[in-house]
Amino acid sequence: MTTEMSRRPALPSTMQDVPLLVRRLLENGMNLHGRSEVITATANNGTRTATYAQVGRNAARLAHALAGLGVQPGDRVATFMWNNQEHLEAYLAVPAMGAVIHPLNIRLFPEQLTYIANHAEDTVVIVDDSLLPVFAELLPDMRTVRHVVINGEAKSSVLPDGPAAVHDYGRLLEKRSETYGWPDLDENQAAGMCYTSGTTGNPKGVVYSHRSLYLHSLGISLPDLMGISSRDRLLAIVPQFHAQAWGLPYAAFLTGASLAMPDRFLAPAPLAEFIAASRPNKGAGVPTVWQGLANHVAQHPEADISSLQEAVVGGSSCPPSLMRTYEDELGIQLLHAWGMTEVSPLGALARIPEGAEGEDAWRYRLTQGRFPAPVEARLIGHDGTVLPWDGRSVGELEVRGPWITGSYYLDDDPEKFHDGWLRTGDVGTIAADGFLTLTDRVKDVIKSGGEWISSVELENHLMAHPGVAEACVVSVPDDKWGERPLAAVVLRPGSTASYGELRGFLAGKVAAWQLPERWALVEEVPKTSVGKFDKKTVRKQYADGELEVDVIT
Ligand code: ADP
Repeated sequence: MTTEMSRRPALPSTMQDVPLLVRRLLENGMNLHGRSEVITATANNGTRTATYAQVGRNAARLAHALAGLGVQPGDRVATFMWNNQEHLEAYLAVPAMGAVIHPLNIRLFPEQLTYIANHAEDTVVIVDDSLLPVFAELLPDMRTVRHVVINGEAKSSVLPDGPAAVHDYGRLLEKRSETYGWPDLDENQAAGMCYTSGTTGNPKGVVYSHRSLYLHSLGISLPDLMGISSRDRLLAIVPQFHAQAWGLPYAAFLTGASLAMPDRFLAPAPLAEFIAASRPNKGAGVPTVWQGLANHVAQHPEADISSLQEAVVGGSSCPPSLMRTYEDELGIQLLHAWGMTEVSPLGALARIPEGAEGEDAWRYRLTQGRFPAPVEARLIGHDGTVLPWDGRSVGELEVRGPWITGSYYLDDDPEKFHDGWLRTGDVGTIAADGFLTLTDRVKDVIKSGGEWISSVELENHLMAHPGVAEACVVSVPDDKWGERPLAAVVLRPGSTASYGELRGFLAGKVAAWQLPERWALVEEVPKTSVGKFDKKTVRKQYADGELEVDVIT
């Protein structure tokens, strides 16, 4: 019977075979939601606003300009920009014309940036004028760049002479047609690329397709994920070079939600001013950004961020104390989410499931979230077996799905893939109802005498102490146990909490053998290019004897 059936040809569907293209997002945003707006922060707490109809017309003009510079289908057009209107125009125009948008992470080291631009073979770079001094140092080592387009005041004299021609964004778009014959494309062709920041080895490129961007935009807009609609105004604090601002620009054009883009004004004070002026109701950013904003508001009660109702927090584990502060003191729900550049990036988001209330609801909110249907997940144990979803078994998370990368660009890295699944390098548990709880990254777990200690759990408990502003726990070598935790702590102004007091605060919350013996006070925890705790640097500071460490037992 089964063989009989399998011999029959599959029944073709009657559905139209229409490709999923970024162009459709562009057309939808500019035509059906032409009055939605992108608001960009400017100097002295100012703002400038453009409608999606204007952005769409500018995208057409930019496409003509880029074609005039010789940009061909498949060519990589890089950006070296903050989040702003012109960056949004490039996000739309470049893929829609068949080329590939490649936002460069402006905060990486010069050698990483030139490695990435050369590896991606970027031909054009659009640069914000405020970043020209940094970019000028890099340009001589970018081997494939033929054109530089300056957004803002064109101070081209800052750039060194070389093979790249220099243009002014505004002038390049002048007198161009406001319509463009967007080509029909294959939905599986490249539309954009992002490099991971490469905490180990060289940065790795992820190439998104039109199809994956389209599906990711649809997916994250669902009510149980970011829940985005035309009635929303989204504050994109997460940079466009960090996993495409977590997909907000494309989701905004898909749904008609307006966008608030802070440009370079990301310090807590100007950010708070920008929120007051642009009045977004939803936002997205890493925990350190939300922490900085909460500290600012605590010291400046006149700061008005009351338009915000909910905000996605991800990229690293969000301390529960921060979520409670936002909820109890500011009336803003922080929604915990898990993602990776390789996952477009959204992989899970924690909304309270039906029926959960009070502390039970909090239990869900503190997890990394539930997987949406397009993200299939499994946990793999030490011995390579697939572990049950019982909320207890701890293993490495592997995922697969239509917006998850199947390889790295021109970089064979079999270690990161396993039978068609992406190995995330994240360790944790999954509960029976699909809620993920991460305990660590594989490389940050502390292996003490054959047992694992979660650095994140210790940090979360420490950051709940009223005297602690930041706490970063890393693994350091130990003669007896192999590895032990070191706690690097930033105290709040005026706090006199001693190491003994902090250790006592942890006691009872974690097993006694997990309590750190090594403690260091630091002025600030070093951060990565996207604002996460930089544990590699803290480990190095310890190894180089740069930390003043006290041992408490
Ligand atoms: P990078 O690898 O350069 O830090 P990514 O943003 O792609 O850039 O990092 C993805 C990683 O960030 C994940 O593999 C995970 O370790 C961590 N991460 C993301 N979201 C969370 C979260 N909510 N909780 C804990 N870790 C997270």
